Amino acid sequence: MHNTVKNLLDIDNNIQISLDRLNIKSSPKIIAVSKTFSIDKILPLIEHGHIDFGENKVQEASEKWTNIKKNNNHIKLHMIGKLQTNKVKNAVRIFDYIHSVDSAKLAKKIVDEQNKINKKMKVFLQINIGEEDQKSGIKGAETNQLVSYCKEIGLDLIGLMCIPPANVDPTKYFEEMNKLNKSFGFSELSMGMSSDYLIAAKHFATYVRVGSSIFGNRN
Ligand SMILES: *Cc1c(COP(=O)(O)O)cnc(C)c1O
Repeated sequence: MHNTVKNLLDIDNNIQISLDRLNIKSSPKIIAVSKTFSIDKILPLIEHGHIDFGENKVQEASEKWTNIKKNNNHIKLHMIGKLQTNKVKNAVRIFDYIHSVDSAKLAKKIVDEQNKINKKMKVFLQINIGEEDQKSGIKGAETNQLVSYCKEIGLDLIGLMCIPPANVDPTKYFEEMNKLNKSFGFSELSMGMSSDYLIAAKHFATYVRVGSSIFGNRN
């Protein structure tokens, strides 16, 4: 078995074990974050049947995934990085999900571009849950307004996403995210990375985004 497949199965197993202990029945999907890795590193996971992959740059994603997706149309590609409005046109062509919507302008642009090609993106709003200056995302208190606007323009919002502050226990941030997500009645919640996917799973993440624990360290 290829080591990336083994890593993925181990992660899934770790999640199952810790959720079983808490008697939580539903476990998150794992987005294999393949940014910076070449397609030959990714192929074993595709052959294994893995569905969800994440990238953070539009151009890199288009180059790596356009052909693969043509031949494997069950694959779901997730945009997890910051998205500039001038990249939206290409983003809606290659991606199925966008996790990083954080402004009305970006939301509107996605609607305009997806309508042109008759596609419906599934979208998360990114919350800057630690209210850090250097991080993207809106504040929790601004969520209501942007959710209303997205609904008004017909964007298919499915949940909230966050990257909590680094190097601190993310528990309280994940708790807050779960509460906020529930208050809007969303079905999906995108949180948890290599260092904290187990904690995220315990706080009802439905998608965890895991890169280095599957593919190894990025250069
Ligand atoms: C790179 C990245 C990940 C994956 O990070 P790892 O620590 O390698 O698991 C998850 N989410 C976002 C938004 C990322 O940019």
